[in-house]
Amino acid sequence: MDCTEAKNYLSAYIDGETDPSLSARYAQHLTACSECRHACEELLQLRATLKSTARVHTLPVQLRMQLQRELAPKKPESSVSKSGFRTWLNAGLLSACSAALAMTLTLALTLPGKSEVLDQEIVASHYRSLLANHLADVASSDHHTVKPWFTGKLDYAPAVNDFSADGFPLIGGRLDYVDKRTVAALAYRHNNHLINVFMWPDSTAKATTGTAATLQGFNLLQWNDAGMSYHAVSDMSAAELEKLRGLLLAAAQK
Ligand SMILES: [Zn+2]
Repeated sequence: MDCTEAKNYLSAYIDGETDPSLSARYAQHLTACSECRHACEELLQLRATLKSTARVHTLPVQLRMQLQRELAPKKPESSVSKSGFRTWLNAGLLSACSAALAMTLTLALTLPGKSEVLDQEIVASHYRSLLANHLADVASSDHHTVKPWFTGKLDYAPAVNDFSADGFPLIGGRLDYVDKRTVAALAYRHNNHLINVFMWPDSTAKATTGTAATLQGFNLLQWNDAGMSYHAVSDMSAAELEKLRGLLLAAAQK
């Protein structure tokens, strides 16, 4: 793949709309071409920014009523009978209401919710860590090395565990910036897959079972446990992510 082809498929690649063989060729080009890698990162960043700053706006009542009046068909009252007038008035109001409803629905459907924005951020962080080959600030499978590294860098102590015996060795830990705060990210490996687990305290969060999602070809799993919010992301299967969640939960209860 050359840079021209890479530029043509940039949006489709980021949206996960390219077929597997094209995705593979794209990823290969990105490892070799810093210019296209930079373009990719910039677009991801731009999208994350747009989504995090987008707000749902509903039309003010006054404006909505004015729109309904403007959209109603303009016919002189004298040219239609009383019942005919009522019919076109009803029809006019109905179509105006449909138009207003369609606009509201379109706005509501196009703008992402909070959890979707967060998922975008998580995938972007995961993607950046893979592109820049920067999974860990402290690269070690020893929790005695990784856990103390976070001390003084965060206002909480993340649980750090290695699951080598269960096929999920710890690669290390790093700081990341998600949901407008600095958070702990732990990187794990499972066979050929890399996994990022982001965790931060959320005192309002009730314990939950995992909520799975798929975004841009990555699987995500979110859950809360003991006042902490967890977000795991990887290209491995949802079932394998669920297995890692089980290991993290069991370790937290020890
Ligand atoms: Zn290129």
